[in-house]
Amino acid sequence: MRDVLPEEARRWRIVEDAIVDVLERFAYEEVRLPLLEATDLFSRSIGAATDIVEKEMFSLTDRDGDSISLRPEGTASCMRALLEHGLLHNQSQRVFYRGPMFRYERPQLGRHRQFHQIGAEAFGMAGPDVDAELIQLGAEIWRALGIDGEIRLEINTLGSAVARAAWRDRLVGYLRRRSAELDADSVQRLNRNPLRILDSKSSATRSVLADAPKFSDYIDEASARHFAELKQMLDALGIAYVENPLLVRGLDYYGKTVFEWITQRLGAQGTVCAGGRYDGLAEVLGGKAVAGAGFALGLERTLLLHEAVHGVPQTSPVDVYCCILQPEQQGFALARVQQLRDGASSLRFRVHVGGGKLGNQLKRADRCGARWALLFGDDELRENRVALKDLATGAQETLSFAAVIERLRGCGEQCT
Ligand code: ATP
Ligand code: MG
Repeated sequence: MRDVLPEEARRWRIVEDAIVDVLERFAYEEVRLPLLEATDLFSRSIGAATDIVEKEMFSLTDRDGDSISLRPEGTASCMRALLEHGLLHNQSQRVFYRGPMFRYERPQLGRHRQFHQIGAEAFGMAGPDVDAELIQLGAEIWRALGIDGEIRLEINTLGSAVARAAWRDRLVGYLRRRSAELDADSVQRLNRNPLRILDSKSSATRSVLADAPKFSDYIDEASARHFAELKQMLDALGIAYVENPLLVRGLDYYGKTVFEWITQRLGAQGTVCAGGRYDGLAEVLGGKAVAGAGFALGLERTLLLHEAVHGVPQTSPVDVYCCILQPEQQGFALARVQQLRDGASSLRFRVHVGGGKLGNQLKRADRCGARWALLFGDDELRENRVALKDLATGAQETLSFAAVIERLRGCGEQCT
């Protein structure tokens, strides 16, 4: 589990704020949910035979003897919360969440045991129109981040539960007959979670899959229509996609539409965002049937891609470093700086504390990457004036407070 230190956290904020801004412009509303849930919530929803539940959860027994787990994903909690608070009864909801998720995996680039997702969920809407909206939302996020050229959309349909079960039976029959040719992982999955074999990376397994029964021969009519309509809407939106019949998801609750946003720029961890439809989930959790669809994007991978495309942004924590020349003026200067903060509200002011020589204070100003230093001297404070030093050019002038506010406000707007 990684520490995100100030410099990196600033870079996270740039990406996170841009994503949340798009979600808000689509009128999705934020929910903030617990990090710990009953283990049962995840085993019932994600599926007891999935990798996540079988091998990746951080679970513990609480003092009452109940098993609880750190959340490995957000959809089940979202559904639970909205059901519990009666927000899904005859209603539709569009929500988003963000925050840490936990999976016991082998850490590597873009794969961590504590990672962060931003997810969007749409409840109570059964049609392909909301699938299209969710995909459009993703496309707008990539556009806002300037990474739309580096990411492609893959879509598939998993049909209805009945159609999927019929196909799964045929698929398992076929794979059993050729099990000698499958990789060991896939043989394991044959009994536990056979659809996951479809996204096996083993070339031997992939060549067996080439002749496997196709879901398109088993799909139910309603799901086929749903999928065809979704594709028409994506065409109308001008969103390019690749149909990938091998795209299944690692979570049991998906049906009908599934999709992934994938990049070539991050090696093996190329799936930046994944989602789909989960109309059966509410019933699995003991509620009445509620349509649902959503996606989750991995923030670490999004950030890696953003920086692969745009480079690592140079950020600094401070815009204006305020030097105080007479320690007895500290209180007065603090009040003055607050007026400047109020006047130039897009800028970040740091006040020097602890006294010391002006030269040392200016060194600190440089070290933290500030653009300006403000020098509060005795005379200036008496006359309601302050010296403003541009740390890039070294130019310095003494101005009235009102003029400093004007100057900084203008620059603040330029640089934000
Ligand atoms: P993968 O196949 O990469 O393990 P997944 O199918 O387990 O992904 P989801 O559960 O659908 O992933 O999660 C959605 C997104 O969350 C992923 O596309 C990825 O960007 C991110 N994600 C999932 N697991 C991790 C992890 N361990 N570390 C970092 N990001 C992750
Ligand atoms: Mg995974």
